[in-house]
Amino acid sequence: MLGQAHSIMYHDVAPDCQTKPGVIYTLAQTEFRRHLDTLKSLPFISVALCTADWGNKAPVLITFDDGGAGSPWIGEELERCGWRGHFFVVTDLIGAPGFMGRSEIRTLAERGHVIGSHSCSHPLRISALSDAALEHEWGDSVRILADVIGQPISTASVPGGFYSRRVGEAAMKAGITQLFTSTPTSAVKRLGPGTVFGRYTADRRTKMSDLVSFAGSRHSGPRRRQQLFWNIKSIAKSVSGERYERLRRVLLRLP
Ligand SMILES: [Zn+2]
Repeated sequence: MLGQAHSIMYHDVAPDCQTKPGVIYTLAQTEFRRHLDTLKSLPFISVALCTADWGNKAPVLITFDDGGAGSPWIGEELERCGWRGHFFVVTDLIGAPGFMGRSEIRTLAERGHVIGSHSCSHPLRISALSDAALEHEWGDSVRILADVIGQPISTASVPGGFYSRRVGEAAMKAGITQLFTSTPTSAVKRLGPGTVFGRYTADRRTKMSDLVSFAGSRHSGPRRRQQLFWNIKSIAKSVSGERYERLRRVLLRLP
């Protein structure tokens, strides 16, 4: 373990009139501003980039998955606070409706934000792919993004939260040295030549007291709740069929 970082995982932000009730991962602009104002009011945090040397203090790393069309607006809002963020792009979706195009990605990079890979195709279960498919998802996405921004790509986030050591090692082989998972933890771990960060999920259901906890306050309840929920989901994902049914009965104390 390499100490701690408090990473927060967002997806996209849209104008208030465009948000839909059931879509929890796209925040309305006023909601996202409230998140940033809350983070800004916390004297104990230091928002940083994973590529910087953040010294002794555990940083807050703000990340966005999928490369959504709201990213340029998000970038400007972060800059208004004096901060920069991490934007993880699905390269097959560059320029597709609802996603950033090449020039928007390049502009974010020029303004000091970190651009990273979120795979080529956002596979449903990246941990189930063959070695060759993994090499394609990481290797080609990194090459495409490097071509877009004119700089090497060294960061990525794992799509769908399906992190495994094999997925991580394949990312490192593609030149990624900072990899973000969806595991809700502040523990920073070493993997070969690289570093693996967990993340706390922030969406439309996130209360401001949860966000303060995700940013590393002493109030660990919301962090622990997200960890517990994640562990239960992981158990459900790792067992299947009959075994899952048996486990469910045990957990629910059914006959
Ligand atoms: Zn994603």
